[in-house]
Amino acid sequence: MAGNYDLHCSCGTAAIRLEGAPRVRGHCHCRACRVLLDVPFHSVTAWNPEQLAVTRGGERLLSFQHPSLSMKKVSCRDCGTVLWNTNAMDWRVVSQRLIETCLGALPGELQALSHFHYGSRIFDIADGLPKRD
Ligand SMILES: [Zn+2]
Ligand SMILES: [Zn+2]
Repeated sequence: MAGNYDLHCSCGTAAIRLEGAPRVRGHCHCRACRVLLDVPFHSVTAWNPEQLAVTRGGERLLSFQHPSLSMKKVSCRDCGTVLWNTNAMDWRVVSQRLIETCLGALPGELQALSHFHYGSRIFDIADGLPKRD
């Protein structure tokens, strides 16, 4: 199932809309995600660039290009919420946490299907999802 998903930062200044179905949805255990976002792993939905539109507050968005990774993170200057990051393929990576916060629940069609880069994990996850390196 594909839909439109309207998300916003915690102060409400900036908003984005995701359209369609994500390319990928899962838990990423790669080192780059950890370094970029300071998280133990990154629970993501990943979208093509044209599937993400800024619908409000574009002038208040701060785009941080990591100095050594081919990744950017885009956040609200006013509250710090990261609205998306990019990966080396320039996909738009939106955290499941942001979606859950904005919509009140993570829709079934956006829930994780697998773990990837699992060989780079910092701890084991005991769930029934497929684990890929
Ligand atoms: Zn904000
Ligand atoms: Zn990753």
